[in-house]
Amino acid sequence: MQETLNALRGLQEIDRHIYRVQAQLTRLPKELEDRTAVLNRLKEAIAERQYALREFRARIKEIEDTTTGLRQRLRKLEHESNSQKVDAAMLASYQHEIRQVKRTISQAEDDGLRLVGEADQAEAGIAELVAREKEETTVFGEFQLNVATEVAEAEAELKALQSKRVEEAASQLEPSVLELYTKLLDTRHGEALAELNDRICQGCYVEIPRNLAIRLARSNELVQCPNCQRILFAY
Ligand SMILES: [Zn+2]
Repeated sequence: MQETLNALRGLQEIDRHIYRVQAQLTRLPKELEDRTAVLNRLKEAIAERQYALREFRARIKEIEDTTTGLRQRLRKLEHESNSQKVDAAMLASYQHEIRQVKRTISQAEDDGLRLVGEADQAEAGIAELVAREKEETTVFGEFQLNVATEVAEAEAELKALQSKRVEEAASQLEPSVLELYTKLLDTRHGEALAELNDRICQGCYVEIPRNLAIRLARSNELVQCPNCQRILFAY
């Protein structure tokens, strides 16, 4: 039975390795996906801000057009108010309107200046994000290449481990033992064996009954932990 246990421990070693490689093969594409999402969010943020900036520019243009129209109106009013035909009452009315138009122009110019300031700030923010995107795209490209290499290596390693596993399992283990081991490997997430140390199962840290420890010491049969079912071995 000691030989069987030794073979099982050899197999467990290979399987632990297989689990590690499989975990890596799951992790790498996930990491690539996460990084792609981060980069896409950055691109979306840039697009959103560029859209907002275009809106700013359009509003600034609108204000400029409005003030141009108002200035023309002002010149016309000033010209008309200077005419000989204007009496005192009309002049007062012209001057009133001129003051109003001047106020409106001044207000529009303030709004325009404020918007220009905001647009400049938005533009600087976009430039910063674009620089960051460029940098991160380079890093991402390198990462993507590394992932491709690592995945290819891991896949080759996995294939080699799996054929080694089949070879060792078939040549050294009874089918019923292999079946029990494989089932445990699956239910116990890659650890089918556990060392027994001072009657404590090192797989689940539960103390096992004395008679089981004695049976294990006799080495005539496979002994499983009554709690976690792992196949026990002792040094
Ligand atoms: Zn246990």
